Amino acid sequence: MNAFDLGKFEEEAQEKWTHAFESNPSNLEKCYLTVAYPYPSGAMHVGHGRTYIVPDVIARFWRMRGKQVLYPMAFHVTGAPVIGISKRIAKHDPKTIHLYRDLYKVPQNVLEEFTDPLTIVRHFASEYQRVMTACGISIDWRRRFTTVDPTYSKFIEWQWKHLFEAGHVIKGAHPVRYCTVDDNPVGDHDLLEGDKAEVIKFTLVMFHLGDAFIPTATLRPETIYGVTNLWVNPNVTYVKALVDGSAWIISQEAAEKLALQDHAVELLEEIPGRDLIEKIVSHPLCGKVPILPADFVDPDLASGLVMSVPAHAPFDYIALRDLQHAGKYTQIKPVPLIKVEGYGEIPAQDAVEKGGITHQMDSRMDSLTQEIYSAEFSKGKLFDKYGGKPVRVARDEIAALMIEKFASKIMYEFDTRPVVCRCGNKVKVKILHDQWFLKYSDPAWKTQVSDHLGDMALVPPEVRLEFDRTVDWLKDWACTRRVGLGTRFPWDTTQLIEPLSDSTIYMAYYTIAHKIREIDPRLLTPEVFDFIYLGKESPELPERKKLEAMRKEFLYWYPYNYRFSAKDLISNHLTFQLFHHVTIFPKDKLPLGMVVFGMGLLNGAKMSSSKGNVFLLEDAVSDFGADTVRMFLMGSAEPWQDFDWRNELVISTKKQIERFFNWVLESKDAAGEPHDIDRWLISRLQSHINRTTDALTNFQTRQALQEAYFGIETDLKWYRRRLTKNSDGSRELHTLCSAWIRLLAPFIPFTAEHLWKELAGEGLVSFAPWPVANEKLVNSRIELSEELISRTVEDIESIRKLIQITPKSITISIAPAWKHEIFLIIAKSNDRTTLIKEIMTDDAMRRRGKEATDAVKQCTTLIHRLPPHIVELLARESINEMAVFEAAKIFLEEEFGVPVHITEAESSEHAKAVTALPFKPAIIIE
Ligand SMILES: [Zn+2]
Repeated sequence: MNAFDLGKFEEEAQEKWTHAFESNPSNLEKCYLTVAYPYPSGAMHVGHGRTYIVPDVIARFWRMRGKQVLYPMAFHVTGAPVIGISKRIAKHDPKTIHLYRDLYKVPQNVLEEFTDPLTIVRHFASEYQRVMTACGISIDWRRRFTTVDPTYSKFIEWQWKHLFEAGHVIKGAHPVRYCTVDDNPVGDHDLLEGDKAEVIKFTLVMFHLGDAFIPTATLRPETIYGVTNLWVNPNVTYVKALVDGSAWIISQEAAEKLALQDHAVELLEEIPGRDLIEKIVSHPLCGKVPILPADFVDPDLASGLVMSVPAHAPFDYIALRDLQHAGKYTQIKPVPLIKVEGYGEIPAQDAVEKGGITHQMDSRMDSLTQEIYSAEFSKGKLFDKYGGKPVRVARDEIAALMIEKFASKIMYEFDTRPVVCRCGNKVKVKILHDQWFLKYSDPAWKTQVSDHLGDMALVPPEVRLEFDRTVDWLKDWACTRRVGLGTRFPWDTTQLIEPLSDSTIYMAYYTIAHKIREIDPRLLTPEVFDFIYLGKESPELPERKKLEAMRKEFLYWYPYNYRFSAKDLISNHLTFQLFHHVTIFPKDKLPLGMVVFGMGLLNGAKMSSSKGNVFLLEDAVSDFGADTVRMFLMGSAEPWQDFDWRNELVISTKKQIERFFNWVLESKDAAGEPHDIDRWLISRLQSHINRTTDALTNFQTRQALQEAYFGIETDLKWYRRRLTKNSDGSRELHTLCSAWIRLLAPFIPFTAEHLWKELAGEGLVSFAPWPVANEKLVNSRIELSEELISRTVEDIESIRKLIQITPKSITISIAPAWKHEIFLIIAKSNDRTTLIKEIMTDDAMRRRGKEATDAVKQCTTLIHRLPPHIVELLARESINEMAVFEAAKIFLEEEFGVPVHITEAESSEHAKAVTALPFKPAIIIE
C-alpha cells in the first residue's frame, strides 16, 4: 500500500540526506548562496521559514543543473539582547517567562538554565538546526559556527586590523542612541520600537525668569523675533536644576537627558507647571513675553518647554486662538517676521483657515506644520528689520549668535518617538566620548561601494534605489559596546565589537569554517588570514598544508553568488557588508548579487515575535508537513513580495501535493502506444520545462510553481479526458512523470524523493539532472489542434448552459478558406488600422462586400481575445480544422452523448453557420 504520508516521506529522505549536501571544491562550476544568519534567541516562525527556504529552492535547482552548490549556515550570538533576556528570566519576569515557556515551548528544566545567556543561544541554535533540517533545507552543516567561537574572534580581529589600517575606524565624541538600563549604545536590532528614529539637533533658546533660565527647544531659532509667549504644561511638575553652574527650569526628563549630553546637572527643587503660568520671561531678541498654559507641551520632548510663534507655527496659532476664544489673553497678536511667496502676512493663520482646521487635534496639523516649515526654509526671507536674509542662511547665523552671546546650548533628541529598547526602557540620546566609529560618512569609501554596487545583480531591480540612498545617507556608526557577547575591540579591550559590525564578511569565513577549527586559535595570527584570503606569503606560517587547503576553498567558493535577506536589512547589514568587502578583498572577490525579501504576514497582520503574532515553523511542519509548508511559502508570493500565512490556504496546498502524488502513481506504469494526444502532452511539457527553468533562474518561485505544478496538472486533466475509453494512457506518461518529479523536487523534495524511488530513478532526486526541453518534441500543429478542440468544447458547454435544452445533436460548422486568408493577414500584420483598406484591394474580397468587411472586424476582435502566443502560432502554422474535428468526433460524441456533425459553413443551410470564424467554428445545438 503506497499511501500519501508526508511524515513517512520526510523520515525516508532524512536518512538519505544526512551528509548529502556537504559540498567541497570540485571540477564543476560553483554556486555559493548565503542567507543572513539568525540570532537564535527564540523559536523560528514561518516568516523565518521562508527566509531559509527560498535560498534552498534556488540551491536545489542549481544543484540539479549540475553546479557545485554551497549553502552554509551559522548563528549570530553577538550583542546584548540575550543578556537582557537572561536577566529577565532570572528576575522571573512574567512576560518573558510566558514567551519562552508557552510560545516557544522551552521545557521547564531547560528554561531554568536560561539565566546563562550562552545557554539560551546554544539551545536555540540547535533548535534552529533541527527545524531547518526538518524543513529539508539543504545545508552543509559541517561549516556551522557561532560568532563567539574563539577562531571566529581571531578572524574578526584580522578584519578590523585591515579596517583600521585603511583609516575607517575612528574615535570621537558623538550623539548615539543609548539605553541607561543596559548602559550601552543601542543598535537597530536592540530596539522594540523606533528603529527609523534619527538624532536631530535642537537649539535651546534661553529666556530669563528671575535668576533662572527657561530653555525652550526649537528647530527654528530665527523665529525668536516672532515669539509672543512661552507654552508650559500646567499638569507637569518641572524642576529647577543647576546645569553647568546656572539655574535652569526644565522637565525632569530633560534634566536626565542633559546629564547624558555633557552637562553637569544637579537638581534643586520641583516646580509645578501651573506655578509658572502668567509669569513674565524675557530674551534680548524678543523682549518680555508671558508664559501661557498648553496641554500639548510634552515634557519628554527636549527641554519640556517651548516658545510660541503663532504667525509661523500652526500649532501655536491654534492654541492661542483657542485661549482667546475663551476670552483670555486677547491682547496678544501674532508677530510675523518672514515673508514667503504663496502665503499672506500671517502664514500659519492662512494655512489653518484654508485647511478649515478648527481644533488642535486635527490630524492634518503635522503635515501643515511641515508644509510651512519647508516653504519658509526654501523660499522664505526675514523682514528687513530682522536683517532681511533668506531663512536658510539666517537660521544658522542666529543659532550661532545665540550660542555665542545669549547662553544658548545644543540639545539632541529623536525626530520620531517613542524609541524603546528591547529591555523596555526608553532610549535616550547620549554623547559618547572615546567611542569608536566606522567612518561610513567617508565620501571616498562611499564611492568605492557605489562603484561596486553598479556591477552587482540586485533582485528585484527596484531595490537598487534604496541601496544607493543608504550608501548616500549612512553616517558614522558606533561600532563598539560595553555590554554583550562578542569579540573584544583590539584597541580597547574593555569594549566589544557590536553585532552588526562583526557580521559583514563572515560569508568568507564559511569557506574555511570546517577546516580552521582544526588549528589552535592561538596560532591564528593576522598573517594566517592574510595568507588564506589574500594569498600574502609570510615566513613561519603554521600548519602550512591546512592553510593551503583553506586557501583553495576560499578561491573556489568566493565571491559568493547571491546573498538573501529581508528588505529591512538594506539600511544596515546588506550595505555595511559591501563597505567591508570593498576594503578587504580584491575586485574579483567582491559580492556578485543580492536577493531581497518581502515581509511575512499572519492572517493579514505583520508577524512579530515580541507581539506574539507568529506561527511557529515547527508547528507548521508537524501540522501540515514540510513539503506543504515549503510549497505554500514558495507559491503564495514571489520572494520579494509580502506573503500572508493562512491555515485554510495551506490546507489546500497539501491537497495539491496529494493530487500530484496520485497522478504520478496512477500514470507512471501506463504502457499503451502513444497517439497524437501523447505527442501533445510531451510537446506541452517542453514549454513547461523552459518556463519553470526561466522562472527559477530569475528567483520567481511562484511563477515556477504555476508552470511546474498547475501547468502540468491542467494538461494531464485534459489528457485523461481525451483518452479513449479503457485506455490508461501511453508509456510517454513515464517520461512526463520523471520530468514532473524533478521540476517539483526543489519545492517538495520529500515527496519528490519518495516518488523518484517509485519511478526507479537513479540515485537521489536531489542530485538528478534537471529536465532540459527538447525542441524536437515541440509540435505546434498538434498543440494548436488541441487548443481548437478544447476551446470548442468550452464553447459548446457554455452555449448548452445558455439555451437550456436537452440537445439531440451538435453541428460544428467550419469557416471558409477566404476567412482564413483574412485571419492570416490580420494575425501577421503589425499595423491593424489600415487593414480593411489593404484587404479590400483584393478583387475577390471586394466582390464579397459587407460580408468581407464584417469578417475583418470579427477576426480582429477574435485575434484580440486569443492569447498572443496562439495568434503567433496560427500565423506560422496552418491547421486543417475539418481534419482536426473529424479526428475528435468520437471524443466529442462521448463528451456530449449526442451525434456530432462536422460541416463546411458555406455549404450549411443553418443561419448561424455564417458566424464561423477561423479557430472559432459556428456551433449549432439542436
Ligand atoms: Zn535597554
